[in-house]
Amino acid sequence: MGKGAGPNEARRTMTARAALTAPLIALALCTGVATARTAPPKPGTEGAAVRPGVGDSLFRITLLGTGNPRPAPDRFGPSSLVEAGPYRVLVDAGRGATIRLLQAGGRDLLGGIDFVLLTHLHSDHTVGLPDLWLTGWIAGRDRPLAVYGPPGTESMVRHLQRAYEFDVENRRDVVEKLPPAGAELLATEVEIDKEGAAARVVFDRDGLKILAFAVDHGPETPAYGYRFEYAGRAAVFSGDCRPTPGLVVQAHGADVLVHEVVSPALLRRHSLVSDEEAVERIIARHTSPEEAGRIFALTRPRLAVYSHIVPSMATAADLVPPTRKEYKGRLAVGHDLMTITIGKTIVLGRRGTAAR
Ligand SMILES: [Zn+2]
Ligand SMILES: [Zn+2]
Repeated sequence: MGKGAGPNEARRTMTARAALTAPLIALALCTGVATARTAPPKPGTEGAAVRPGVGDSLFRITLLGTGNPRPAPDRFGPSSLVEAGPYRVLVDAGRGATIRLLQAGGRDLLGGIDFVLLTHLHSDHTVGLPDLWLTGWIAGRDRPLAVYGPPGTESMVRHLQRAYEFDVENRRDVVEKLPPAGAELLATEVEIDKEGAAARVVFDRDGLKILAFAVDHGPETPAYGYRFEYAGRAAVFSGDCRPTPGLVVQAHGADVLVHEVVSPALLRRHSLVSDEEAVERIIARHTSPEEAGRIFALTRPRLAVYSHIVPSMATAADLVPPTRKEYKGRLAVGHDLMTITIGKTIVLGRRGTAAR
């Protein structure tokens, strides 16, 4: 951590970046991409309490954790649940994802996650994975948990399996005698060119299509965003990134864009990291509210949502005014257990209170 850009150098980099970003985004849009606005929705059963079947039009995001590495009781680590018809998918598994799942939907939801998409391998996005894997198994999952992510995912999963070998054997063979298939953790690495806007399809079944695309979280960190398409609607997650032309392409015209945000001024005052140069390196790998506003203005989602809010104590009063410099559309500052139900209208709500 000793050598990297100092504050002045980091600021120069950011200025250069700002100068480059606008034309890059314009270019991406021109060459682009054709992701047209989505088709009208089908009639649905939004908010259904029981697990819907194939063809059901439920398309709902639940923000499980809207925070970052700093432990905060009201903003757990980054994790979002996407329910699309019969599928329950997590984007990232940060600290406390299992607690929020239990709050949101009880044991059934905790044991009912189909697979996990990792945006990247930073610990704030992955520390909840072993908890979800093993506690979800205890809660009733009787099939393997699949994990998709960038290069390095297979190695991380292999080491988690080694780390928890005793627990798995004990619960599978001795005490609870849990179903062996539920203890399996299956990794699939998704390879995407770092440059360019190309997206890779990671899942395409029963009307749910999920694409991964590369985002810029610094040159040394493979990082992805994800685009969900279901029931004629689209929801996009930025993952961690600084302004990325490829994201603008993939999110253009989406119904919902869930985007990360970092308030530089607040982070300089409240970072867990004490080294000032390190704080500037962090800021340079994320998106400020002003930059996010520019991205929202270009992509024009029906709803823009902030999650992965850095620092955790940033409020709507800190984040919304700078975003509004360029973006006038609908905007929500996410909170843990916020629901976003996507249909003809986009309905915000709050889900779950008590663990069961
Ligand atoms: Zn992060
Ligand atoms: Zn990160």
